[in-house]
Amino acid sequence: MAASPSNAAKHRASTADTYDVVVIGAGFAGMYMLHRLRGLGLSVRIYEQGSGVGGTWYWNRYPGARCDVESMQYSYSFSDELQQEWDWSERYAPQPEILRYANHVADRFDLRPDIQFDTRIDQAVFDEANNSWSVTTSDGSTVTAQFVVLATGCLSNARTPDFKGLSDFNGEVYHTGHWPHEPVDFTGKRVAVIGTGSSAIQSIPLIAEQASELFVFQRTANFSVPARNAVLTEQEREFFRANYPEIRRKAREEMRNGIYQEVPQKGALDDTRQERQARYAERWAKGGLTFTATYNNIAIDKAANDTAADFVRAKIAEIVKDPEVARLLQPDNHPIGSKRICVDTDYYATFNRPNVKLIDVRANPIEQIVPHGLRAGGKDYQVDALVLATGFDAMTGSVAKIDIQGRAGQTLNQKWAAGPRTYLGLMSEGFPNLFIITGPGSPSVLSNMIVSIEQHVDWITDCIAYMRERGVERMEATRAAEDKWVAHVNEVASTTLYPQANSWYMGANIPGKPQIFMPYIGGVGVYRQICNEVAANGYEGFAMTSAPQQRAAASS
Ligand code: NAP
Repeated sequence: MAASPSNAAKHRASTADTYDVVVIGAGFAGMYMLHRLRGLGLSVRIYEQGSGVGGTWYWNRYPGARCDVESMQYSYSFSDELQQEWDWSERYAPQPEILRYANHVADRFDLRPDIQFDTRIDQAVFDEANNSWSVTTSDGSTVTAQFVVLATGCLSNARTPDFKGLSDFNGEVYHTGHWPHEPVDFTGKRVAVIGTGSSAIQSIPLIAEQASELFVFQRTANFSVPARNAVLTEQEREFFRANYPEIRRKAREEMRNGIYQEVPQKGALDDTRQERQARYAERWAKGGLTFTATYNNIAIDKAANDTAADFVRAKIAEIVKDPEVARLLQPDNHPIGSKRICVDTDYYATFNRPNVKLIDVRANPIEQIVPHGLRAGGKDYQVDALVLATGFDAMTGSVAKIDIQGRAGQTLNQKWAAGPRTYLGLMSEGFPNLFIITGPGSPSVLSNMIVSIEQHVDWITDCIAYMRERGVERMEATRAAEDKWVAHVNEVASTTLYPQANSWYMGANIPGKPQIFMPYIGGVGVYRQICNEVAANGYEGFAMTSAPQQRAAASS
């Protein structure tokens, strides 16, 4: 339901520099957070660095960008009218369509009046005497809020490696995570793409169609499965619309990754080789992320994992005609799924084109960027454009850019110097009234992000309502609860194959970043249950302080 004009007026009625809640970021998390907090009658201000809503879908406009979670599930569930009325066009929505959807949501729920665009938050300082945050924006103004919510996104701090000579390059330089708003035409140009993660794997086939020559600089080969993208039929859309209550419930409660799908009942080694090949072939033909859910032990048992990895390696050899190129494209240093599996359209086949060359950066490291191209392994590659598909400082990068000072002047960067520490991924001890949406220590990037976002936003909303009803002014995770949760997150991760890969989940893509498996791998259903129990037990593990209590403590 759109907010009525009188409601909208009421939301904006707070004084210009004091809000109940400041939310940082107007992606899917920030927008829904605003909507829910308005429902409590609170004054809320979102600050957004970009000029529009959509977060990751605002910035990542590279050719071929689309979501790897199917569109009927990568959408909000909080409004039945919204999910019934919106028409997704394809099985996997392309970036422009997701951005249209984000804008539609912003309009439909009248969110824009409470969003300040083109504004970064540089600093947030906790005022212990007043139990509030003092928040400074990039335009130099300071506002006060009782609560701050970090809706800054997990993959929003694009990372450009420190390549020697980059600033001397005479051609165009693009980063997939920070793509221009106008279409980029590579027709007739010589192009270098650095990186072979999801962003590269989606964009390479399309860039190859335009470029006269395309050089792909690969350091680590990644596993990719075909998307089998297709136009959605009315019948397919109708199936979801008619069954949304049950589909959404299952996605939230029964699926580890928040995506409604067929759940495997057996392990890979329970089948004969022939049966396994048939099952993998069936999933390969179906396409999409569910390939790694063919069996229930692919993420935890290396021998089981090898069977899936071998299947994909064989597919690569079948598709790619040059055996040496095929060999280079076959991942050989991490279990399948331990890095986010990629979902592509014609990625491997693109290497059969005469204008596409694969350069093995592991054997021939990039030495430097030169004015007319790139030097790797002692050889110069002349190019007109450079595409950096080099990823993100994930999960903590955007938070680290803000100077967050909690109790006793401790900064969040100091506290997280050896790796992020949170209780439930929602709060960090020493930083009262500061919530994180899909932060480290929560299922976050291992899940359908919108499912996790909605769960966090609902939990935070209930928590703030609880505090208000009881006159609680300050809430903070306790050290003991946080220590226990961090130990649990690590323990669960260690039972899987995930820590075996040098992935961005581990912080391994950023030189000097502590290597800790950041998301919680227990599954969204289990995690939701834990969060609900914590709330039902009066927010167990959080210290809550009401104003009189605090004054009494100060005077004793
Ligand atoms: P990424 O997975 O981190 O890939 C970055 C690539 O750049 C890697 O191949 C990396 O090689 C390479 N690289 C980085 N520094 C390099 C250097 N100095 N020299 C040579 N190569 C270098 O980043 P991404 O592709 O942007 O994807 C990040 C995440 O975003 C994905 O895992 C996914 O979760 C999400 N995403 C999702 C979609 C989707 O929904 N379809 C699309 C795009 C992205 P190494 O592996 O050797 O470090």
